[in-house]
Amino acid sequence: MESKSIVYWAPPHEVPSLRNTVSDLLLNNLVKTRMMCEKVLDHINPGDKVGVKLHIGESHNTRYLRHDYVREVINAIKSKGGIPTLIETQGLGMSHRHRDISDNYRIFIQCRRNKDDHLKIVHLHGFGEDIVGAPFRFIDGENGIDGKMVDIDGIKLKKVPVASGLFDYDKLVIISRFKGHPQAGMGGAMKNLGIGCVNKHGKALAHYSESYKVNTRRCDPSKCNQECIKACPVNAIKIEGERAHIDPSFCIGCGGCIEVCPIKKAVKSPFFDENDVFSEKFIDNTLGVLAAYGRERIRYINIAIEVTLICDCAVSVNMPVCPDLGIFGSDDPLAIDKACLDAEIDAPGLTFLDPKGNWTDPIARGIEKFHALNPVVDPTMQIDAAIKNKIGNINYELTKI
Ligand code: SF4
Ligand code: SF4
Repeated sequence: MESKSIVYWAPPHEVPSLRNTVSDLLLNNLVKTRMMCEKVLDHINPGDKVGVKLHIGESHNTRYLRHDYVREVINAIKSKGGIPTLIETQGLGMSHRHRDISDNYRIFIQCRRNKDDHLKIVHLHGFGEDIVGAPFRFIDGENGIDGKMVDIDGIKLKKVPVASGLFDYDKLVIISRFKGHPQAGMGGAMKNLGIGCVNKHGKALAHYSESYKVNTRRCDPSKCNQECIKACPVNAIKIEGERAHIDPSFCIGCGGCIEVCPIKKAVKSPFFDENDVFSEKFIDNTLGVLAAYGRERIRYINIAIEVTLICDCAVSVNMPVCPDLGIFGSDDPLAIDKACLDAEIDAPGLTFLDPKGNWTDPIARGIEKFHALNPVVDPTMQIDAAIKNKIGNINYELTKI
């Protein structure tokens, strides 16, 4: 008989109601999250150090994973005698950017690129220890570059720099907000592993087709303080002749050199990979994380509430593409993401006001909404890559709780 992975599913509280009684508490999404933990977190033993991997959301995004769900997971781990820590990695790049909206209004964006800015968002979004009940830690170190290189036989990659702090934990819980993604088509458990659990180098390997390069026609070390050399965390840059040179075998793609160079276009950014290549590469990363850490020590919870077209890493606020789908849990990262995607396909689309103020026609049931709204990406790219890399079981049994 064909084997299937179990995916637990707690339907959301979608019915508009004026009732607010104690018996209705069982319809509450937070109570359901705790009930999901009782089903899924069977891998935790008393005394286990448990890493809870999440994405804290970008500044000015209001549809990131709410801390309330995370607090329920933390409480469930503690009730089993586990010792939880929230864990996260840093984004590509080194410094935040800003945009002046008006004379008196400046917003800061891309704040997850370094430890200090990232920590401000951790607190702003309610993930402080005083609120969720567990400390927060970067597992890729102060500068986002700490990694353990793992050999794999992936589709595109043969080495994966897994965030080294991951190995300090006996067990992992990967909690993800299920949503669309502008390059990967969708983001869930597999992306939280393949991008979220690698260091900056691993993120660069997945996103870019090559390393950063010096533009020899514009670089002039006599007109600067050689800021690029001071900024590079891995000493990949040297002055050779009258120009700087980046050694691609050392460069980890952090982007620090381009941010500090005072001469416009003296450092060239690499091109982004094509979307299908990006999916194959980050699923290679996923394989590396699973192989190095051990599949049996990980459980997954996907919160498919406010299912937006783009990711928690965006600064724009997105409309959900469909009604809330509920809370999903499994020990299989492919099965849980496929179950969420199937639920999204099966749901009716939501209508929204276009920029002219007209209501759009909702996308019909049976149509995949992320791809319909953004035809250049297709979430099945990462599903296909995950099948090739044997990330999990594409066949699943949905068990309602
Ligand atoms: S890359 Fe920029 S900072 Fe580095 S030596 Fe050239 S001009 Fe100076
Ligand atoms: S060369 Fe530039 S992008 Fe590469 S590691 Fe050094 S600072 Fe980072």
